[in-house]
Amino acid sequence: MRIETKCIQSGYTPENGEARVLPIYQSTTWKYGSTEQMGKLFDLEESGYFYTRLANPTNDAVAAKIADLEGGVAGILTSSGQAACFYSIFNICQAGDHFVCSASVYGGTFNLFGVTMKKLGIEVTFVDPDADEETLNAAFRENTKAVFGETIANPALVVLDIEKWAKVAHAHGVPLIIDNTFATPINCRPFEWGADIVVHSTTKYMDGHATSVGGVVVDSGKFDWEKSGKFPGLTTPDESYHGITYTEKFGKAAYITKMTAQVMRDLGSIPSPHNAFLLNLGLETLPLRMERHCSNAQAVAEFLEKDERISWVKYCGLENDKYNALAKKYLPNGSCGVISFGVKGGREAAVKFMDSLKLAAIVTHVADARTSVLHPASHTHRQLSDAELEAAGVTPDLIRFSVGIENVEDIIDDIRQALDQVNG
Ligand SMILES: *Cc1c(COP(=O)(O)O)cnc(C)c1O
Repeated sequence: MRIETKCIQSGYTPENGEARVLPIYQSTTWKYGSTEQMGKLFDLEESGYFYTRLANPTNDAVAAKIADLEGGVAGILTSSGQAACFYSIFNICQAGDHFVCSASVYGGTFNLFGVTMKKLGIEVTFVDPDADEETLNAAFRENTKAVFGETIANPALVVLDIEKWAKVAHAHGVPLIIDNTFATPINCRPFEWGADIVVHSTTKYMDGHATSVGGVVVDSGKFDWEKSGKFPGLTTPDESYHGITYTEKFGKAAYITKMTAQVMRDLGSIPSPHNAFLLNLGLETLPLRMERHCSNAQAVAEFLEKDERISWVKYCGLENDKYNALAKKYLPNGSCGVISFGVKGGREAAVKFMDSLKLAAIVTHVADARTSVLHPASHTHRQLSDAELEAAGVTPDLIRFSVGIENVEDIIDDIRQALDQVNG
């Protein structure tokens, strides 16, 4: 099946007389006929549902669909994108371990990795996403266990050279984990470029309607944990499961099974089945929406580029954007609907512009059907001084504009009238 078909058909196939649409199994638990049957489930000797924290048929169907869209072998839904990012690392790193991460990642991820995980004894080195192989290599240590980056960084809009990062990660015997939130599997499938694990904040385009916070982790099944020799948690017996060795018993599904059996069992960041159902509705129309998000964003970026009241525009779909060549390689059908730009006149003009928009709404969200806008200097980064903002790559005039799927002429008209207000 091609990807548009998978978005509709994958994950749930009703049998004769069953519900046509994926049912919501809003149940915490399942009933069994004997003590022994239930015992086997607890020992991972038989597969079956018994408690929603560990598995739920609605959640599983949606995870299987996303795994199929990414071209992976298994997936697991989490209650947020933050949880997905944390689980992807924590499944293979423990106190005393280290990992490498692109310096251009989502602010929440940057803090999770740099501050919170440090408190757990897991250290990270952030590396410039544009670094050459030599610089990237120099960040590795004896105890490095993973490499992490974003296909299109939020909000910096940097496109990662996935193939290069995968090559370096593999040379050190560790997997490359890619956060593919902004591109979605419609526009980029990181496994095709050598990535081993993919994570998403499904809160963004996948859900697409700003209804449900969620995340997912998908395994390509391609990383050879045994050959690497750096992951005893996967390749030696787990005493909390009667001595099961994940790679031996579950083969290509080892990483996701370990995540379910240990990390999800103990930390419990599961989505509600109802949220998984809403996510599934979003996935069904994802290819149509991404196409429109991208064509609208391209038109808005081209409009902004020509308007002399705009000081700069960042969008990898623009021919003279720094990341246009990488976008042509990794995102040939389009990137995403998020653009950043500066209004001439600095912070004051940016605020006036924002407050003059009528259709574009000021919200702490990106990547849904409605056009939305955020001024990081006044919102997400408001604690920082102008100097600190510059260092973080967030100039005081930066506006993050998430282009929705409305008629693009209405979006452009709104920007035009807001710019008139700034200058009027
Ligand atoms: C939003 C976002 C996250 C965090 O996801 P939540 O669903 O908000 O927890 C992680 N990575 C990227 C790229 C994001 O845009």
